[in-house]
Amino acid sequence: MGSEAVVIISFFCLVFLCFIGILAFFGWIAKRCSRKLLQGNLREDYVRNNPNLLRNGKVICHCGNTRILLRNIERNGSDVIREHVCDQCGTRLYYSASGEYYADMVRELRKEACLVAVPMPAPSE
Ligand SMILES: [Zn+2]
Repeated sequence: MGSEAVVIISFFCLVFLCFIGILAFFGWIAKRCSRKLLQGNLREDYVRNNPNLLRNGKVICHCGNTRILLRNIERNGSDVIREHVCDQCGTRLYYSASGEYYADMVRELRKEACLVAVPMPAPSE
C-alpha cells in the first residue's frame, strides 16, 4: 500500500516537472523569436545603415516623411515590441522594445552590433 502511494506521488511529480520543462522550453523559443525579430532591426541599426536619414536626431523615412507610426506587434505582460512604420509609404523602419522582459535582449543586441560596427584594430607593426 505504502509503496504504491510513493509510486503515484513520484509519477505526479514527474508529470509536473515535465510540464514545467515544456513551459520553460516554449518561453525560451518565444524569447529566441523576439530576439531574431529585433536583431539588426533596432533604431541604432537603422541609423547606422542610413546615416543620411537622421535629421536633428530624428529618424526619417527614405521617402522624406518624418511622421512615423507605432504598431504593437508583440506583447509580454506590459512589455512590448513596437514596429516603427512610415505613415506615408508604409516602409518599416525599425523595431523598438520596452520593458524588463526585453531589456537584457536589447542590451545584448546593442553590444553585438557595436562589436560588429567597430571591429578591433589590427595590430600594426
Ligand atoms: Zn516613407
